[in-house]
Amino acid sequence: MSNELNAYLETIEPELRVLTRLFGYPESVWDEPKKFVPVAEEQDNLFRITFETDGHRAERSVPAPDDPDERIRVLHRRRSARRLCKQTLYDLLRETTGIRPPWGSLTGVRPTHLMLEALKEGLTPEEAVSRLVSDFDVAPDRAALLAEIADVQGKLPPPGDEWMDVYIGIPFCTTRCAYCSFSSGEIGDGSLVKPYMDALTREMRACAEILRDSGRKLRALYVGGGTPTALPRDDFERLMAETVACFPGAMEYTVEAGRPDTLTREKLRAIRSAGISRISINPQTMNDRTLEIIGRAHTAQQVRDAYALAREEAIPHINMDVIAGLPGENEKDFAHTMDEARKLKPESLTVHTLAIKRSSRMSLENHPLPDGDMTARMVEAGRETARALGMAPYYLYKQKYMAGNLENTGYALPGHACLYNVDIMEETSHILAMGAGGISKRIFPEEGHIERAPNVSNIHDYLTRTDEMIQRKKELFLK
Ligand code: SF4
Repeated sequence: MSNELNAYLETIEPELRVLTRLFGYPESVWDEPKKFVPVAEEQDNLFRITFETDGHRAERSVPAPDDPDERIRVLHRRRSARRLCKQTLYDLLRETTGIRPPWGSLTGVRPTHLMLEALKEGLTPEEAVSRLVSDFDVAPDRAALLAEIADVQGKLPPPGDEWMDVYIGIPFCTTRCAYCSFSSGEIGDGSLVKPYMDALTREMRACAEILRDSGRKLRALYVGGGTPTALPRDDFERLMAETVACFPGAMEYTVEAGRPDTLTREKLRAIRSAGISRISINPQTMNDRTLEIIGRAHTAQQVRDAYALAREEAIPHINMDVIAGLPGENEKDFAHTMDEARKLKPESLTVHTLAIKRSSRMSLENHPLPDGDMTARMVEAGRETARALGMAPYYLYKQKYMAGNLENTGYALPGHACLYNVDIMEETSHILAMGAGGISKRIFPEEGHIERAPNVSNIHDYLTRTDEMIQRKKELFLK
């Protein structure tokens, strides 16, 4: 193997570290002298990689990719070497520990990409499932889940260069959840709301022009955060009116109404009169004790009340987010949440697995967390509930620091898959993002490349630098 590829393998050490973490190895195994060092060679048009440690040895080889175009050849060779290296290390770790992670050697956040890639190559869904199981040791039920997701996604309106998604961010919440990893802040005395809405309105109007001047059509629009419904009534009504005035004619509109205690009849009417069909009311758990531990400041009864109110106001699509693996919860607690979900009958259900970043408050305190096996059983119960409600899985992603190396899966009734969620996870659509922390993306599918224009996430910075945020997006989409 060339020096260039050997040098390249050194650059993937962060991914190898993620693998060793999956198998419970401490970070110190990467201190010098490193415990896991790939030995790579290229011979007879084969890449071969070997790992050896503590009397165990793993070796794999694949044909070295070739292409007349030098740039493509380098890209394919790197990708092949990277995969081979990870798979070989995975073999060794599995042999030495006896652990079999549900996603096998896949450490990326979007396992659906591999399934879609296999189908694009012309494999049948069954063949694609077999490839994921044999090449990456993905558990058969997870590989089958990906095939189902690919099937649902294949029936959605296809994304393309002529379309643009729009994201509008409201970075305020009533209180901060203990596991929150967003830049959202507590609304506090509300003094930042008016200046924020003024700046956001200016940015929305400028972005409506960017969308028009880019010649693209609006695909899906998502008002998220934070909790947009945490805004006072006047500001929320203004936000809804401005949203449809600036961005009419989307295939789909969603508003996050995550905290049930922020919903009122008036806000629901503002949502309906803006023509918004999908909202998300997220209990996370229906156990009051847990809601208190995670700092949600609402009760399970308030969730029931919010669903009843939204139904009264004829909201056609309510999504429900729940989290498996919350502190202090066991399978019985999660089963209770699922029973309640069955009664509330959302049109879509997203089953998250708790992911705690080091910076989150919860990681600093000492709440007992269910172990990986128990969390896996909760995730399974979530899947059963979604199926009992008549839903199919339609998007899936993983995050770092997830309990049991599990996943987040979105399920929906037929015809209710959220386009925006699919687009953002699969990175298949341009995104024009407004508000503090919004990240605009321009997709270059041919080159397999994405350019980003992030907005600053600090609210004070956003207020003083709104024009700069607008200019960044002009440069991204109008150049
Ligand atoms: S509702 Fe969402 S954004 Fe707000 S604090 Fe909780 S996790 Fe963070």
